[in-house]
Amino acid sequence: MIYPTERNQQQGHNTRAVHGGTQRNKAFDSLTTPIIQTATYTFNKTQDLIDFMESKTWGDGNDRGEYGRYGNPTVAAVEAKIAALDGAEDAVLYASGMNAVTSLLLTILPTGSHIVMTSDCYRRTRQFCQTFLARFGIETTVVLNGDYEALESAIIPRKTRFIISESPTNPYLRIADLDRIAHLGKKYRCLTLIDSTFATPINQRPIEWGIDFVLHSATKYLSGHNDLLAGSVSGRADRIKALKDARGVLGGVVDPQSAYLLERGIKTLGVRVRQQNQTAMAVAKFLEGHPKIERVWYPGLESHPDYEIAVQQMNGFGGVVSFEVYGDLQTTARFIDALQIPYIAPSLGGVESLIEQPALMSYYEKTTEERLALGIKDNLVRFAIGIEDTQDILDDLEQALQTC
Ligand SMILES: *Cc1c(COP(=O)(O)O)cnc(C)c1O
Repeated sequence: MIYPTERNQQQGHNTRAVHGGTQRNKAFDSLTTPIIQTATYTFNKTQDLIDFMESKTWGDGNDRGEYGRYGNPTVAAVEAKIAALDGAEDAVLYASGMNAVTSLLLTILPTGSHIVMTSDCYRRTRQFCQTFLARFGIETTVVLNGDYEALESAIIPRKTRFIISESPTNPYLRIADLDRIAHLGKKYRCLTLIDSTFATPINQRPIEWGIDFVLHSATKYLSGHNDLLAGSVSGRADRIKALKDARGVLGGVVDPQSAYLLERGIKTLGVRVRQQNQTAMAVAKFLEGHPKIERVWYPGLESHPDYEIAVQQMNGFGGVVSFEVYGDLQTTARFIDALQIPYIAPSLGGVESLIEQPALMSYYEKTTEERLALGIKDNLVRFAIGIEDTQDILDDLEQALQTC
């Protein structure tokens, strides 16, 4: 398939979300991308097979392999769209966000190498590096978010291969200084990776700041409807080609049905994220001024430690607001139970608002003291805002706060 990616790069992000990566003349003149629901591909005669093996393309150049694990046109269309949105040369799609993390690191890191990672990062990413990769002799150093001197001193020249960060982070929405991280990567010749799941390409585009790889859990904002799992990595074409080849070995392919739903979801990414940004900002301001709230974490508020970087490097501050309710674990739980709009659930980025108390969701098995050591207070709430009307969400918060 020939994707007009270069033309897309000059267009705005709503146009890219709708048209990015899609070819004009699809099978049967279908407007939407056909779901090529097949596990394998056929050849009319042996010579066709030989021609395919020589060129690895088929007929008009359709993106496919000889077998489903090596390529699928529906998946390829989503990859081209994500690349267009991230401003990257290419992108690769995986079965989940974690599958994207593990496949990227397993493909690129040699034995004996070293990773520097910032704290307040996705728990499973840290777990993968510190337990699984450690077994292959790959070491990980975790440095405090926002401490760039510590980050630089943690780099071991010629041994450190990757600097990994997230932006915004979970749950404190810390913002990485992409400019500084990209410079450190170039200075010490290590690759840089930003998990940009919370930002989406609408709010922040790390590739444009010189970051090597951008990762998304497409399960969240990109798909936007809480109905599928997928993950992606964007970057330079030769590196993504290596990741696609490795995916054929590691096997983390996303099925065509989910790929179709993801592409459909991405088309409305711009309007959804704009609404979520706007409501989140209103919620953050409302909560900051509320007597029953102890502290609000939102990068669009001047009180946030990374407000300055967020203003310089982001186009919007995202749809997640974290805050601390005055009171203990039970008071906070009572407030959450009194809310009528958000569901209690992990995850974020969909059209439905979701709310959780990290102490009871991701850190349930730990004691209050252990959680505090990890920086998770019992009264902390993470609110992932959906696309409901802003005023309804504000009214719901107000009535629930009156009960605690
Ligand atoms: C959810 C998430 C992941 C993992 O993605 P899955 O699709 O759930 O595997 C990775 N990073 C961040 C920041 C996430 O929020």
